[in-house]
Amino acid sequence: MLDLSLAHWLDTHALALDAGLCDPQEVLSQLAKSEVLRIGISPFLGGSGRNLADAVEALADVASHSMTAAFVLWGQRTFIEYVIQSSNFSLRERLLPFLLDGKLAGATGLSNAIKYLSGIEALQVHGKPTTGGWHLNGGLQWVTNLRKSGFVVAAAVENEHSGTPFILAIPDSATGLCRSEDLQLLGLQSSNTAALDFFNVKVGTDWQLHEDAHIFLPLVRPAFLGLQCGMAIGLARRALQEAEAHSQHQRSILLEPLLNQRWQLEGRVGELKRGLLDGHFRANPAALFCLRIALAESASNAVQLELQASGGKAYLNEHGSGFARRWRESAFLPIITPTLVQLRAELQRQRG
Ligand SMILES: Cc1cc2nc3c(=O)[nH]c(=O)nc-3n(C[C@H](O)[C@H](O)[C@H](O)COP(=O)(O)OP(=O)(O)OC[C@H]3O[C@@H](n4cnc5c(N)ncnc54)[C@H](O)[C@@H]3O)c2cc1C
Repeated sequence: MLDLSLAHWLDTHALALDAGLCDPQEVLSQLAKSEVLRIGISPFLGGSGRNLADAVEALADVASHSMTAAFVLWGQRTFIEYVIQSSNFSLRERLLPFLLDGKLAGATGLSNAIKYLSGIEALQVHGKPTTGGWHLNGGLQWVTNLRKSGFVVAAAVENEHSGTPFILAIPDSATGLCRSEDLQLLGLQSSNTAALDFFNVKVGTDWQLHEDAHIFLPLVRPAFLGLQCGMAIGLARRALQEAEAHSQHQRSILLEPLLNQRWQLEGRVGELKRGLLDGHFRANPAALFCLRIALAESASNAVQLELQASGGKAYLNEHGSGFARRWRESAFLPIITPTLVQLRAELQRQRG
């Protein structure tokens, strides 16, 4: 269960986080203070033990209060996973303590790479080999958790020499790396989401996470997608809880669909956790793609049910902003890479 002081902070700030009225700098510090970043990481590496399924639960807990905070947590925790799964041990030693205590923000700019692997778009960052490293040029349109006080971002880079794309961590201090102003969004505004441009950015080989994106991305995919599912699970659970509170009296007709949705959701959660823990998704990514789609649909259906259970009150500001915020938050789940459209296209491609 979530630390009570974090739960309280998230409840108090959820609307401000969504609307951009909360200092984006604060979010990661609050998450770090409650130790959620360490869940599912070995104590030998500075974590608090337990496993990836527990990390998904922690993400779901955060998402049940605030999707903005959950997405920041996703970016940070997924970046930590890249560092842990990298064979660049000296990079891990350098970065991990600062990532785990939230002093350094980790950003994952890999949606371009994921689209690239599915043949949807070309890589947008190019690297020319130079002595001891590369010169990078290009850009990333969307990256979250680009904290103004310091970040490191993971990107896939097209190797202009060998052609094999590789994965690099790029520190914000690198000369030629430009962060845009925060993008103006429909919601999730305090998430430090901006674009990055690379103008002859020099990065040394000591920042390489993996020499081959084709090997690294499938390796980290279960954690990447599994943690993403946590966001849908948390939103769905919270919307169903709200729907239940509204359905007790005149709207008891909704109790049956509510129970069905809850039963279906928790069945999917169980399947997700089993697959993450027994390694099933490494050999069978399609099963994880199907679950990601199904869980995003669970969240969308749950928010719809909350609306029906609440009725006209949901449309009146005087009854609170929680529903309207969850409605906006639910719009994010289908479009985070891999988007539901990309997942469906990939599943169709695999079926031949
Ligand atoms: C709040 C938020 C945070 C995100 N954070 C990250 C992150 O941390 N890391 C990451 O790798 N990705 C991030 N993304 C990007 C996300 O993963 C998807 O790549 C993005 O939503 C585009 O989805 P798509 O593939 O459907 O769009 P596409 O198929 O690429 O685009 C659909 C249409 O939208 C247009 N479009 C897309 N993006 C832009 C843009 N920035 N400006 C102008 N037009 C645009 C395209 O030109 C096209 O017409 C974030 C997105 C959002 C909404």
